[in-house]
Amino acid sequence: MPERKLIDDCVHCGFCLPACPTYNLWGEEMDSPRGRIYLMKAGLEGEPMDAPMVQHFDACLGCMACVTACPSGVKYDVLIEEQRAEIEAARPRGLWDRLFRAMIFALFPHPARLRAAAWLQLFYVKSGLRRLVRALRLPSLLPPRLAQLEKLMPEVSAAALRTRLPASTPAQGTRRARVALLAGCVQRVYFPEVNAATIRVLAAEGCEVLVPPGQGCCGALSLHAGRDGEARELARALVAGFPADVDAVVVNAAGCGSHLKDLPRLLGGDAAAQAFAAKVRDVTEFLAALPARARRNPVQIRAAYHDACHLRHAQRIVEQPRQLLRGIPGLQLVEIADPEQCCGSAGVYNLVQPQSAREIGERKVANVLDASPQLLVSANPGCTLQIQSILRDRGLTLRAAHPIEVLDASIRGLAP
Ligand code: SF4
Ligand code: SF4
Repeated sequence: MPERKLIDDCVHCGFCLPACPTYNLWGEEMDSPRGRIYLMKAGLEGEPMDAPMVQHFDACLGCMACVTACPSGVKYDVLIEEQRAEIEAARPRGLWDRLFRAMIFALFPHPARLRAAAWLQLFYVKSGLRRLVRALRLPSLLPPRLAQLEKLMPEVSAAALRTRLPASTPAQGTRRARVALLAGCVQRVYFPEVNAATIRVLAAEGCEVLVPPGQGCCGALSLHAGRDGEARELARALVAGFPADVDAVVVNAAGCGSHLKDLPRLLGGDAAAQAFAAKVRDVTEFLAALPARARRNPVQIRAAYHDACHLRHAQRIVEQPRQLLRGIPGLQLVEIADPEQCCGSAGVYNLVQPQSAREIGERKVANVLDASPQLLVSANPGCTLQIQSILRDRGLTLRAAHPIEVLDASIRGLAP
């Protein structure tokens, strides 16, 4: 249940309203941070949690733009997390909603299951079944959430699905640091090249890189959906599997990094979790603080950097990825308008709230297109999938890469 003290920190000034994507979309007070805090207060005072009330909370992206905008330091991130846990415990959802959420959480936080599903997906694509399904317009007959799942599935290849990361990679030249890499769930199955690039760049910059074997999910997706018991279990298991004698735990997915930095709050006085959290660094944050040693080769490209909310708002990492990109000769970095606005991906938001995710994503895509980039650079796999899916629907394509892939291409003298 949200803490009364945190609710009372809100002075109802409304400064957060223009930062909120759902308020911007619908102009509805109860779909603003301030309105949602009113609802939390009403809930604390005994108002029953009915379906419309739950819908206002479900519509929140958890993007934390309101946290950055709030001059009173209201901890909306903590409030919405506690509210979501309360909703999950009260179980006011319909059967189909519960089943769909159960399916998502039986799959996404389990890399082995996700990989097995990705092999099925590969068969679906390579056998021609997907072409047939789409030609017959069958996805339009599916419920919107399943249609969205079908549409958002990233491309996979057998080679990518067979990729396994080396347990240890030595530093090139004199060792400057020893780090452990979080492989991620979606990242390791669908974007193994991002992890491979992260290891290469870190090694080129003089870091020994360990990839602790058997690491599972960090629990970020579960926590953001109100499944705090599951999030705690996953986080504890992850911490236990990481070596303590490293200088940093490097993360290349924004949502995982913000969650892991906040572990002491989730796991209370757990000393191992506190020590672990203190070492967590986003890869761009880590590299920006390490004087560059590897030579950067020119990459002639016009690139737009998209801020993932869990980097920009939750971790306040804004300058570091831009700094790394600006350090690449020939790369022209362009800004996307309204960079503080979410793209609508937001963890599993675009799966459980496909309609509003779509409307929010359309605005982001319009701003991306206005910047006329040749490459979209984003540090979160969910954002890339969301933006590219909307572009595809418009018959457009735009290459996308993680900042670390662009840096890797520069160091290796390749095109990104
Ligand atoms: S959350 Fe912060 S910015 Fe928003 S209304 Fe409350 S005090 Fe004002
Ligand atoms: S987290 Fe994002 S969507 Fe939710 S209230 Fe705050 S700004 Fe609005």
